[in-house]
Amino acid sequence: MIEKYNPSEIEPKWQARWQKDNLYSINEDSDRPKLYELTMFPYTSGDLHIGHWYAMSPADTHARFMRMKGYNVLHPIGFDSFGLPAENAAIKRGIHPFKWTMDNIVNMRRQLRTIGAIYDWDREVITCLPEYYRWTQWFFLKFWEAGLAYRAKAPANWCPKCQTVLANEQVTAAGECERCDTPVIRKDLEQWFFRITKYADELMQHEGIDWPERVKIMQRNWVGRSEGADISFDISEYGLEQKEIRIFTTRPDTVFGVTFMVLAPEHPLVEKITAPECKKKVAEYVDWARHQTEIDRLSTEREKTGVFIGAYATNRLNGERVPIWIGDYVLLSYGTGAVMAVPGHDQRDFDLARKCNLPVKVVIAPEGWNGEKFEAAHEGPGTMVNSGQFNGLPNEEGKKAVIAFLEKKGHGKGTVTYRLRDWLISRQRYWGAPIPMVYCQTCGIVAVPEKDLPVLLPEDAEFKPTGESPLKYCQSFVNTACPKCGKPAKRETDTMDTFMCSNWYFLRYPSPKYAKGPFDPAKVKYWMPVDLYTGGVEHATMHLFYARFFTKALRDIGLIDFGEPFKRLFNQGTIILNKQKMSKSRGNVVNPDNLVAEHGADAVRAYLMFIGPWDQGGDWNDSGLVGMARWLNRVWALALDEAAGTEPLGEDAEKELRHQTHKTIKKVHDDLERLHFNTMLAALMEFTNYLGKVKESGRVKNSPAWTEAIETLVLLLAPTAPHLAEELWERIGHAYSVHNQSFPVWKAELAAEEEFTLVIQINGKVRDKVMAPASISEADARELALNREKVKSYLNGRPAAKVLYVPRRLVNIVI
Ligand SMILES: [Zn+2]
Ligand SMILES: [Zn+2]
Repeated sequence: MIEKYNPSEIEPKWQARWQKDNLYSINEDSDRPKLYELTMFPYTSGDLHIGHWYAMSPADTHARFMRMKGYNVLHPIGFDSFGLPAENAAIKRGIHPFKWTMDNIVNMRRQLRTIGAIYDWDREVITCLPEYYRWTQWFFLKFWEAGLAYRAKAPANWCPKCQTVLANEQVTAAGECERCDTPVIRKDLEQWFFRITKYADELMQHEGIDWPERVKIMQRNWVGRSEGADISFDISEYGLEQKEIRIFTTRPDTVFGVTFMVLAPEHPLVEKITAPECKKKVAEYVDWARHQTEIDRLSTEREKTGVFIGAYATNRLNGERVPIWIGDYVLLSYGTGAVMAVPGHDQRDFDLARKCNLPVKVVIAPEGWNGEKFEAAHEGPGTMVNSGQFNGLPNEEGKKAVIAFLEKKGHGKGTVTYRLRDWLISRQRYWGAPIPMVYCQTCGIVAVPEKDLPVLLPEDAEFKPTGESPLKYCQSFVNTACPKCGKPAKRETDTMDTFMCSNWYFLRYPSPKYAKGPFDPAKVKYWMPVDLYTGGVEHATMHLFYARFFTKALRDIGLIDFGEPFKRLFNQGTIILNKQKMSKSRGNVVNPDNLVAEHGADAVRAYLMFIGPWDQGGDWNDSGLVGMARWLNRVWALALDEAAGTEPLGEDAEKELRHQTHKTIKKVHDDLERLHFNTMLAALMEFTNYLGKVKESGRVKNSPAWTEAIETLVLLLAPTAPHLAEELWERIGHAYSVHNQSFPVWKAELAAEEEFTLVIQINGKVRDKVMAPASISEADARELALNREKVKSYLNGRPAAKVLYVPRRLVNIVI
């Protein structure tokens, strides 16, 4: 009898050995090709839960696989540790955010070690420590010098609960705080911004990077570039100083279809041009609109409303007088506070026109249109009609032609607008990197000199949120000398958005202890860009967006020579428990510690990878984990149990065994390369089932093919179950370490499926022949035959009356 598989004994043993030997430490002198594989670093919110393991263990498996394939792999880990969640948690518990955060790091580090990953702990990065945030501040100064950071008074998103401003990216579509779901209000404040809009066009381009389509779409929509025209409508008939209303439209091709215009109820013109008989109704509507929230007014779900003000504007393209309405869905703060309405080609305008009996005019004819009335707006392409000299133009061409005409006449111009706004980075909270600026009565805004960095976050500040930065009340922090004239001056008391810290952590890992700058340029040149970045899709318009902006800015400042930080991006799915997303607030979080103690880290790793395709996630189920642990036990026994019998396996059986081994190598290799962990594990299970049967035959004792099969199984399993593989590798008589072995290579002629010629008969006559794998199933053979072009032409659309299959020989189709 062999010893039992005991993960709680072997896992800590090997983790200690790997660490003692620095097995996974790496350097830049290697003659292997470099590979930078990065998992989004965890936030220091407390315990790691199974969702963290789901992000980290498949990533580690892939990194280990690439390491065995001969790459010099950097797969580091660190902690994202500044910001609101840590501060709020600390306040709730009455402890200092620094203590709360560092205690969490100690615990999370311990948990992370149990995964058995190849993290090189000497490269750990912690964003809330001065040796890191010193450089976060340094980058701020570089942005300031480059004109990419500026201070301005602007309406800001204010969360009354978090008591701080939020970036647009941190406000949900429902207008709520992304962290606490409180409705966000607007407040005019002096704030620091980064000029991210300078990169709007470039941020929409994802050329040369391999990213999921949906993330690219989310980023493009976030930038929200729209091309269109500014068009002037004439109101000179009212004898006012203002002679025109300017509107922006993305559809200048439909300008002949304008049947009314809509102004924001608070538009200053309303009072001046409203007809006397409409005044009462208009005043009532304006008053009503004033009491609606902006969110309600912009809601696309809500029915549009409006009233006629008894005034007209002239459409300069066709001379038509267009009635002017007011409607609460038009906001004065967006664009010009006026829109043109084209009910024929905009569904929302169509709905309002129907409701208010306004005319619908067709100016873009869909294909095959014969002059009939529209039952709904036609928003798609077509040919311009009822549009004067533009009739007959395809509408896309028409857009350009109308703009050219407007520009020639001086009645408008082509313009581009963006939804993207500059990134607001000031936070009125304690737990962040202080913004390194000083206000002097004489010199104005002065940057802290680089040699005086870091501007340390004072430990003794009262950090409870009051709506103003807590640093404001910390006299020892606020009062300083002006770096320029030396007179008394005051420090900026806002801290930076924590997304600023995660903008560059991937640049720090290549030289985490470098003191002469944020990174050693030679090392960044060697490792960057990140070859594979894995993490959640929820970061699409925040971290992943900001980090791209930051990288492009650093390129233009001349600090790096690339503009995209992450070559390939992969978003893992989520682990669900009882049909619910795991979350701390629901209290349905699975803690990995107990599972690791009971079943071993290798079983947890393998089970998470088996649960479903990695990009989709799956349902957590304890019995599934037990099943995985059982399978690892079978692998153990298969490799170590003494084989019975002494008879040889025989030539054919040896050949088949080698075929199965090499076929499995190819499958596991290809699946690992594509991050298809679940099918990789299914193939390994199939292989072990097969090996189990071979072993039962009692003929494997002196078989070289059997020895090869078991060695291969251990090597193929090494990236997924690193501890078990290390232990087995030693026990079957090999030198330490399995993780320094090359990944097995299959021999094509052995991996290839044996094939045979499948004869296809129709009514007993041979009509076709095709090569098929020897292992083809009856169903696949029938399908293969029925899908042949020749067979289809004989069938001519009719179903076959009967299909007969003779294994490894023929299919006979009876018509
Ligand atoms: Zn909030
Ligand atoms: Zn000064």
